[in-house]
Amino acid sequence: MSEKKRVYLFREGNAKMRDLLGGKGANLCEMTNIGLPVPPGFVITTETCNEYLKLGRLPDGLWEEVMAALAEVEKDMGKKLGDPNNPLLVSVRSGAKFSMPGMMDTVLNLGLNDDTLQGLIKATGNERFGYDAYRRFIMMFSDIVLSSEYPKLKKENFEKIFNALKEKLGAKVDTDVDAAGLKELVNQFKAYFREVTGKDFPSDPLEQLRLAIIAVFKSWNNERAIIYRNREKIPHDLGTAVNVQAMVFGNMGDDSGTGVAFTRNPATGENKLFGEFLKNAQGEDVVAGVRTPESIEQMEREFPHIHDQFQEIARKLEQHYREMQDIEFTIEKGRLFILQCRAGKRTGVAAVKIAVDMVNEGLITKEQALMRVAPEALEQLLNPRIKAAPSERPKPLARGLNAGPGGASGKVALDSKTAIKMAEAGEKVILVREETNPDDLGGMLASVGVLTARGGRTSHAALVARQYGIPTICGCSALHIDEAKREIHVDGTVIKEGDVITIDGTLGEVYNVPLETEPASVTGDFGTFMTWVDEVRRLGVRANADTPEHAADAVALGAEGIGLCRTEHMFLGDRVPLVREMILAEDEETRQRALDRLEPLQREDFVGIFKAMGGRPVTIRLIDPPLHEFLPPMDELLVEVTELRCKDPNNPELPEKEKLLKKVSEMHEANPMLGLRGCRLSIYFPGIVSMQTAAIIGAACEVKKAGIDVHPEIMIPLVGVVNELVWIKERLDKVAKETMAKEGVEVDYSFGTMIEVPRAALTADEIAKEAAFFSFGTNDLTQMGYGISRDDAGRFLPVYLREGIFKADPTETIDQKGIGRMMRICVEDAKAVNPNIKLGICGEHGGEPESVKFCHKIGLNYVSCSPRRIPVARLAAAQAVIEERGVGEARDK
Ligand code: PEP
Ligand code: MG
Repeated sequence: MSEKKRVYLFREGNAKMRDLLGGKGANLCEMTNIGLPVPPGFVITTETCNEYLKLGRLPDGLWEEVMAALAEVEKDMGKKLGDPNNPLLVSVRSGAKFSMPGMMDTVLNLGLNDDTLQGLIKATGNERFGYDAYRRFIMMFSDIVLSSEYPKLKKENFEKIFNALKEKLGAKVDTDVDAAGLKELVNQFKAYFREVTGKDFPSDPLEQLRLAIIAVFKSWNNERAIIYRNREKIPHDLGTAVNVQAMVFGNMGDDSGTGVAFTRNPATGENKLFGEFLKNAQGEDVVAGVRTPESIEQMEREFPHIHDQFQEIARKLEQHYREMQDIEFTIEKGRLFILQCRAGKRTGVAAVKIAVDMVNEGLITKEQALMRVAPEALEQLLNPRIKAAPSERPKPLARGLNAGPGGASGKVALDSKTAIKMAEAGEKVILVREETNPDDLGGMLASVGVLTARGGRTSHAALVARQYGIPTICGCSALHIDEAKREIHVDGTVIKEGDVITIDGTLGEVYNVPLETEPASVTGDFGTFMTWVDEVRRLGVRANADTPEHAADAVALGAEGIGLCRTEHMFLGDRVPLVREMILAEDEETRQRALDRLEPLQREDFVGIFKAMGGRPVTIRLIDPPLHEFLPPMDELLVEVTELRCKDPNNPELPEKEKLLKKVSEMHEANPMLGLRGCRLSIYFPGIVSMQTAAIIGAACEVKKAGIDVHPEIMIPLVGVVNELVWIKERLDKVAKETMAKEGVEVDYSFGTMIEVPRAALTADEIAKEAAFFSFGTNDLTQMGYGISRDDAGRFLPVYLREGIFKADPTETIDQKGIGRMMRICVEDAKAVNPNIKLGICGEHGGEPESVKFCHKIGLNYVSCSPRRIPVARLAAAQAVIEERGVGEARDK
């Protein structure tokens, strides 16, 4: 026996041993020890998996430990593996520290061969059941354990054989095939195995066990497991544990069954058992969707005392773990067994409700509650929702996958064009499609909800829906869409294009009546939760907003100021002709005239924003993009001018167009992202930023005179050298003073800069002396730090991520090692020369939870993000504090 213990009986472990025993194993041990009916078994440690992967063979001594543990299980069960009279069968399952659902392998019914099969039939008195278990085992074992060596042993080839047999026997579903049919199937499977491998199916149960353990170890490194770990940021060196457990059977007749239940509703958080149950079935039948499971209420009717026992166990587990549980169970001949429990996955809405309820029930502390909700999940709470509680609504017409949370009621449109037309006519539209493709984007964006008959949670429809916050249901297979007749058929109900339906994307339910929806608000449980968040966090949270409406939305979601108002957005829409006039001006006088006309418009914008922000700080960034972005694209103009010249050289429009083309080609840049933009533009064309400063300060004076407190912070973009800042600031400060003198009132304004050029970050000791604040523009800082174009990275970034060259997308989450290092240096150097400097971030990273936590760690004062991300950033900031205190609970991934 080696010194290191590699195998633990369930009674020897506990819930704290997740690192060593994996989540599933640790919970099986814990449940055994609190006296729940768990079939006996043992766990082989995750360390052993790593040893195996290193050595390429089972480590010395392991097998002896497995044999000793197996003997204990046999003793507990009163059955022996391989005993032809009363055989023990086991399951061999993977189980890593973090749950990786379906990513690794499992073998069930292990221990069957021709002899033990007879013992099983004798013991159960059920021949059909015996052959059913045997055929499942041959297929599963071949597929999981041996198909890497013999690809023809893949599951689908066995399924083909089964389908052919079903056709021959006239059977519609698996359960129509009787014992004799399954016996024939077993013979066919065995013959096929021999044909493929040249050998008989392995009949020694111990050999089966050895091979299955190795297969589970190896499955740690199968492709889908690696992809999943990359996506979920789970380290690759954890290894999986192997759980070997006595089988119990839910398919032994009508007094048996299997199911999965959550202790609270995972969609809404309601404190009521929620689950599915299937009579006379094995767990895989529930997952495979061969039969439609019944609700847990049905179990209450059919097995009342088991339902009561289960409810009691569910309560006990929840109290024990102080967390909502997802429980797998089996009923074997009227006896209940618990096969697994783990923290249940839930929607954002449910996560918040459960966290708040559990604090109120005294189960967890507020801090624990804050750690229970993934910050990103809060975005789901911002979509509109159906006003009526699920129990007050009519019966749903159909159900599908809840792909995009929120509720929507609107008229059915069966294609994108129709959806856009109806939306333009002022209708609320629900786009209903067989499935969506990229061409449907316009239609989806015009709709208040999307419903598809096909496609899963990662389908195009679902991705777009989540990105844009559109309530969506996918894979609603009950829908039969007749595009020609412009109608949908659902179980005898006909819905015509233009009829009103309602979808609940949080629950995945479709109603063929209008139901009232209400906008999201930070009230109720969400409001309570966010109050707790704000009690804890230290980092400020501001919004990136450039209209009064956005500013008001942001304040409603808890913004404490504006961290980035992109003024160029105020140059769009009906102001484009005026902006073009300014850009194309032949002389300074003409340019100034255009600027003079723009100034009151900009001023009005700022007045609106200052009022909406009611005294909160507002950081306004002076114009940043290259001016040609406001002009028509050069290639389009070139085509237009050439065509005009060919058709009619005397066309009166031609000289104007030619002039425009000349100007556009003069302004053309090979690399506009590194060209005449940001502060370079302010130095090259100082008139624009002078106008903007006059508009900002003028608006601030006006608002102040109206009795509203105002603190504009004027931000100069793309500074790389301190002299750029000094040059601009000197001139703009003069404009600010002149404006205040003209208005006859003083306002509290300041100048600062964005840190988005690496050189600026590395020379903060100079720049910070001249700035009241810094705001990290991590979009550009990442672009320039990596030398990756923001506009072109979409081509190769997915490949980098797929190949593991980048562990995460640096345009989404701050690269803490490289770009983050520059930020740290910058913060340190800036504070050394200017201890009062205000530090923030306004790149897209400002709303990404890991980046927010990083900003907290390096000592920024605030993050700024889009309004919808404000609750996300607030929660991430609170979690950063809790993690810093070291009292945060590790959340399951
Ligand atoms: C940035 O670069 O991070 C930034 C906020 O500015 P923009 O995205 O407008 O370039
Ligand atoms: Mg920028």
